Amino acid sequence: MSLVEEIKKRRTFGIISHPDAGKTTLTEKLLLFGGAIQTAGAVKSNKIKDHARSDWMEIEKQRGISVATSVMGFDYRNKRINLLDTPGHKDFAEDTYRTLTAVDSVIMVIDCVKGVEEQTERLMEVCRMRQTPVLCFINKMDREGRDPFELLEEIEEKLGLRVHPLSWPINIGKNFKGVYSLYEKKLVLFEASRQKLSSEKIEISDIESPELEQYVGEKDAAQLREDVELINGVYEDFDKEEYLAGDIAPVFFGSAVNNFGVQELLDCFVDIAPEPIPRETELREIEPQDPKFSGFIFKIHANMDPKHRNRIAFMRVCSGKFERSKPYLHIRHDKKMKFSNTTAFMAQDKEIVDEAWPGDIIGLYDTGNLKIGDTLTEGEKGNYKGIPSFSPEMFREVVNKDAMKTKQLEKGLSQLMEEGLAQLFTFEMGSRKVVGVVGQLQFEVIQFRLKGEYGASCDFRPMNLYKACWISAENEKDMDAFIASKGRHIARDKDGKLVFMAESRAWLQMVQDNFPNIQFHFTSEF
Ligand code: GDP
Repeated sequence: MSLVEEIKKRRTFGIISHPDAGKTTLTEKLLLFGGAIQTAGAVKSNKIKDHARSDWMEIEKQRGISVATSVMGFDYRNKRINLLDTPGHKDFAEDTYRTLTAVDSVIMVIDCVKGVEEQTERLMEVCRMRQTPVLCFINKMDREGRDPFELLEEIEEKLGLRVHPLSWPINIGKNFKGVYSLYEKKLVLFEASRQKLSSEKIEISDIESPELEQYVGEKDAAQLREDVELINGVYEDFDKEEYLAGDIAPVFFGSAVNNFGVQELLDCFVDIAPEPIPRETELREIEPQDPKFSGFIFKIHANMDPKHRNRIAFMRVCSGKFERSKPYLHIRHDKKMKFSNTTAFMAQDKEIVDEAWPGDIIGLYDTGNLKIGDTLTEGEKGNYKGIPSFSPEMFREVVNKDAMKTKQLEKGLSQLMEEGLAQLFTFEMGSRKVVGVVGQLQFEVIQFRLKGEYGASCDFRPMNLYKACWISAENEKDMDAFIASKGRHIARDKDGKLVFMAESRAWLQMVQDNFPNIQFHFTSEF
């Protein structure tokens, strides 16, 4: 097949949700449709359970699971679907943000009982930054959830996302009878079953047809007609272009655990979801059809076998054709590199791949040359943009506990940061090292892994910091003056970018007022 045909075939997306909304369950059902797994229960949740907070082996085990299920490829209706898993635990949210840079669209799962939850709001912000198209799946309709109109309103309000229902539920909870697909103009009747693969669809192109009563009874038929009339009045015709521009999110209702509404979601996804989209480098926008290969690293998983210090770097292919063992330019090192050990992720089997196409995610075995954000090309020196770091929420100073192991500590810290486990800031004055994280659990994992993998011990000393702000100025003189005045509070991030370490919100505000020519940014991409 030609490059263009390969691109047209591919759909690369991620599923996001608040923990427990049903991401794992939905993933599993999608894989069943793709024939990638045969039985339910084959997909393990990557959830780090709360009891694991103090159980290191458990975290390690779960880390292993999340590697196996990080990327799942399967074929459905002649399309190659690449599904990227995102960690559910909020302490690893950065990992999710980075994964979202490697997808072309997302499916968002919302629990109909709980509605929009906090974590979903933050993930949506990241989608919005990149105008990623979103499809919503409102899950658990077999439970006594909230009114569907109310849920839609909440999505619009809390997520700042315009919605457009493409299916509509008939009742909810124990009276849930199914959905009417506004997209396919078919009635799909609900039957609670964890085993069945798909539901029978009944063609009812005209909702006024008396046939409707036969299936759902008079009362529910009347309610459905009323609802649909309201929907038609409130929402304009569904416009795929608006969805692709990230302006409108189609909404489906269903019950993942009962495998209900999932096929309709998948069918619509295959119809409308974007194929691999162009991406920006520092030099230009690169089309996937560009015949020259390029790709970037968005995730690194290290030390899966403690005896060998090997890692898998996850690369998104952005343009052209990737060929195994062909030398490609590693822009940061400015040298050509060959990768002979490359894997694809088809469901849960890893297999060697010889070639990969735009939209594909492949694993490159590496001994420490690659880090998150690295770009590989056939020669052009433009790095892909847009792997953002956000200001961490908690900061602690690293205190070396074993002076004999200083080298190991530095190496370990630097490698774990390359993996994206946390962010490291080094103060310009005194070279104090500060680790910034989103959640407490990350500190614990760092300590544990430094000890286990590098033989280094450290403590974390609490620090009173509010935010790390990346700073910039149009005029170098302004920056010099700022540094001269606030030098004690200035650090560098892992890439050497200047960061202002603000101690409190009020103080940050004051400094911002006093230095109007300095721009303060809460993400590293600006
Ligand atoms: P995740 O944390 O988002 O991956 O959520 P899971 O897929 O692990 O689901 C969380 C819980 O919700 C599990 O106990 C599932 O069995 C349950 N669940 C998932 N889908 C449904 C559904 O449609 N109806 C009901 N009643 N429970 C569901």
